[in-house]
Amino acid sequence: MTETTTVAAIRANDEYSAQLAEFSDHFADIQRRRAALDAEEVRLLARSAAYADAFADATVPAIFPPAERQALSRRSTCAALAMAARIPERTVQCATNNAERLVNDAPTVLASLEAGRISASHAQTITDQLRDVPAAGRAAFLAQVLQVAEESTNANLRRRARILRERLHPESITTRAVRSEADRRVEFEPAADGMAWVHLFTTAPIAQGIIERVETAAAESRKSGDTRTCAQLQADALAALALTGVTPDDVMSSPVLPHPIEVQEHIKPTVQITVPALSMAGASDAPATLDGYGPIDPETAARIAVNAPSFTRILVQPETGAVLSVGRNQYRVPADLQRAVRLRDGTCRAPGCGRRARACDLDHSVAWEDGGTTDVGNLACLCRHHHRMKHLPGWNLDHGPGGVLEWTTPDGKHHRTEPDPAPF
Ligand SMILES: [Zn+2]
Repeated sequence: MTETTTVAAIRANDEYSAQLAEFSDHFADIQRRRAALDAEEVRLLARSAAYADAFADATVPAIFPPAERQALSRRSTCAALAMAARIPERTVQCATNNAERLVNDAPTVLASLEAGRISASHAQTITDQLRDVPAAGRAAFLAQVLQVAEESTNANLRRRARILRERLHPESITTRAVRSEADRRVEFEPAADGMAWVHLFTTAPIAQGIIERVETAAAESRKSGDTRTCAQLQADALAALALTGVTPDDVMSSPVLPHPIEVQEHIKPTVQITVPALSMAGASDAPATLDGYGPIDPETAARIAVNAPSFTRILVQPETGAVLSVGRNQYRVPADLQRAVRLRDGTCRAPGCGRRARACDLDHSVAWEDGGTTDVGNLACLCRHHHRMKHLPGWNLDHGPGGVLEWTTPDGKHHRTEPDPAPF
């Protein structure tokens, strides 16, 4: 190496390390400022919850029992914040609960977050573990765990905090199991290309039982010469069990599982599907719509339509043939009109809510008692939660032309929601 290249290399190296130092300082500084902002958010959310409690009796009508008044007031507050920032209400509710725990139970952790010594996820880990620590032992637990938090990654903290909590306050696995079991649920997650996930969160033995059952059924079907892959067979087995209502014994008595096409015949009672008439006739490739999911391929749609004609909506245009208004003649919403409103809305019409229209109430935007009509221009899908919220003082909903809803939250802000765009 010549002398000049060595000098150039040293220079480049110096420049690189100087620049890198700048990057890493800047990066760390951004994390610190973010932590401070997160602390600010924590204080704000905790204050908003305290206000919701303090004003519950004044803002929620006395017809609700006191305990419910407080819950409603809190939910109303969270909804207003969520709508202002366009984030899910559930996220704000969880963040508020965490914020209160930090402010009330772990002020030293909050101070550390404020100073940028730990991140919001570190703080969350600590409050999660703190939940199981008896009040008397909290100060000792916090002192030890905070020191770890300020020196390590969140993953390491999580491990150490769990061990520490377990050592200081052993809790039986039964107690933890009972608590976790209460959280069991099923979740629906849309995926691409006409697919979707169904997640089942349940106890390990039940989950294992389900897996064993579908594995056995798939293996039996394979033995009988089925050429579907194991993964496909297991998926088909579970779908068959869930959708056909066939008891496990019935399925086990026949070694060959029904194919999804056969299973589809059994989804009559719950699946609503919208098929453009032209696709039905094979003259167009326009997608059909599976309620609560979105577009599916016309072939599958047509097959379901043929199998379950009474549960299929076949429309040339969304409005054709549907009763769109019964004016003031009746309060009850006729089936045609219900269908038209649910089709237009797709989901609950509160800003940010994704509850499917089918599971929603049909709300008269202007109450029938106040002269509101039973027609498409005065009806909107609202989930039970938002339906109730709409009637709380401070909340208002204006139903404009074309199904546009203008919401007012108790903080005087306005949020607009528009109908679901037509699927075809
Ligand atoms: Zn809703």
